[in-house]
Amino acid sequence: MTPLDGALWLIRHNFAVFGCDHPGTPNCTGLHKTCDGSRGKHPTVAFTRAWTLDERKIHETFGRGLRNPAVAVGACSFPDGTRLAVVDSDRVGAIEEVARALGEQWPATMRVWTAKGHHDYVRVPAALKLGNSLGSLRGKFDGDIRAGNAFVVSVGAVHATGVLYELEDPERPPAVAPGWLLDALTAQQVPDRPQRRHTPRQGREIRSLDGLVNFVLRSRPGSRNGALYWAACRAWEHVADGHLAAGDVEAELIGAAIQIGLSEAEAHRTVASASRGTGVSA
Ligand SMILES: [Zn+2]
Repeated sequence: MTPLDGALWLIRHNFAVFGCDHPGTPNCTGLHKTCDGSRGKHPTVAFTRAWTLDERKIHETFGRGLRNPAVAVGACSFPDGTRLAVVDSDRVGAIEEVARALGEQWPATMRVWTAKGHHDYVRVPAALKLGNSLGSLRGKFDGDIRAGNAFVVSVGAVHATGVLYELEDPERPPAVAPGWLLDALTAQQVPDRPQRRHTPRQGREIRSLDGLVNFVLRSRPGSRNGALYWAACRAWEHVADGHLAAGDVEAELIGAAIQIGLSEAEAHRTVASASRGTGVSA
């Protein structure tokens, strides 16, 4: 499948598509100002708004230049009202292992093979408002969950290693996510203790994006926007020094902000304004 074939297949199956950088172009075509070098994964548009289901636009985007097709996960909904979530196993069989450990089963569902493992596409109740949090699977699952304000590089795309993102079975639609998975993802993972301070003490650094996401998730009403701004500033600094990918920062922090009740527009504004402060383009 070429990127154009993949993008057309995706929109015909109701997946909201946009273009990411393609490793075949000489330079990264991502929106960001500074590239961390992870080619093939950086959105070329503000993906939470600039996705499409329109065939003509797909031809415009993927027929002209080399782009990797990607799916704006939060923009995808199904006729029965469910929404999309993607379970991203960093190695083959990781999600099946989690299921087995819990005495459960992983359903046969739409699967896209990636460079390291696979993306399993599942349908989740719209009311759940899942983000990118692993809930009680944190530390138990070798992978990630992509829901809400997130994206996945998808069918017809090429990984930096040259591996093609391929459908396992084009006839198999996304299954309904099993209840045990939804329970795990919505399990409270952070004790909701009152906090006197909202800003970590000087000298205490949070390096990982997970840490920053948790900081946002733990913030108290009234300080949420401030917490998001602080976390976004730290995250953009790590983008600037090449430790984090701009696309991940945007998706994860905005996803976390939505989870704690900020509006998507508000979260976008805050994350973008933090990026201006650190000189990185959101
Ligand atoms: Zn880039």
